[in-house]
Amino acid sequence: MNPQPVAMITGAAGGIGGETAVRFAEQGYDCVLLALPSEDLSPVTSRIQDTGRQFLICTGDLSDLEYARSAVEQCMSAWGRIDVLVNNAAWREITTMRNIELTSWEKTLRVCLTAPAFLARWCAAQMEPRGQGVIINVSSIQSQMAAGISPAYVAAKGALDSLTYELATLYGPSGIRVLSVNPGAIDTAMGQDIAVDQQETATKIRQASEDMIPLRRWAHPREIARSIVMLAGNDASYLTGTSVTIDGGWKQQCSPYSVKH
Ligand code: NAD
Repeated sequence: MNPQPVAMITGAAGGIGGETAVRFAEQGYDCVLLALPSEDLSPVTSRIQDTGRQFLICTGDLSDLEYARSAVEQCMSAWGRIDVLVNNAAWREITTMRNIELTSWEKTLRVCLTAPAFLARWCAAQMEPRGQGVIINVSSIQSQMAAGISPAYVAAKGALDSLTYELATLYGPSGIRVLSVNPGAIDTAMGQDIAVDQQETATKIRQASEDMIPLRRWAHPREIARSIVMLAGNDASYLTGTSVTIDGGWKQQCSPYSVKH
């Protein structure tokens, strides 16, 4: 068995997933990086190499559960252990319930809910005999806040939170903790994709959101990564079956007066 702990991260080529993989490596974990075949992982892998830790790359599309299963198998045959699973990958189409195609709806649920559920099941099966493990589902504050522009995505994230509580109940007696993290506005490809074709409009939307966030800025993905790795560690040993909102205070404030402070 690998002497180092092993973290498996989906959507690891960049954004929150890339920063999470690098942070795990900095903390002494070897990393299994799941990414789409089209993605360039070298910016992440070169930073992992700098830490002296190892990585394993498994590319594929998480709509395909056989790919997800094979990633778990590859990890087990290479290293014989999985200590942490971070279900981070997500796919979102900006659209409305009036217009969404069934294919888009089904793809979103497969990537954002079904793949995380089955990855959790297959990883937990490897964690249970060792009596320890952590599963972190990257959800969103949109699981509880609506914008009317991504119906399948928000439905999947809401269900992912519910799944977190279900899995924490099932696997807690086996020593496995299960958590959701719910980021707010994060400066990544997905955060910036607000489907407006004019830069001026995008800038206005961003400014409006920053005015509503008590910390008055979007987060760097590194800030979410650090929280994820902290939650996976022993300092969070009694934390399970809950959602941790990481949003600069956005969700809790709803007063129009707050923009004046
Ligand atoms: P991102 O676009 O950088 O990352 C999303 C990742 O998902 C990409 O690496 C992409 O390759 C992967 N992915 C998409 N479809 C896939 C598929 N079919 N198979 C395999 N991988 C696939 O954006 P991000 O902001 O880093 O997103 C990471 C997580 O954070 C997501 O779960 C997202 O819902 C969540 N989140 C982001 C924000 C934000 O503002 N950026 C806010 C709340 C929640």
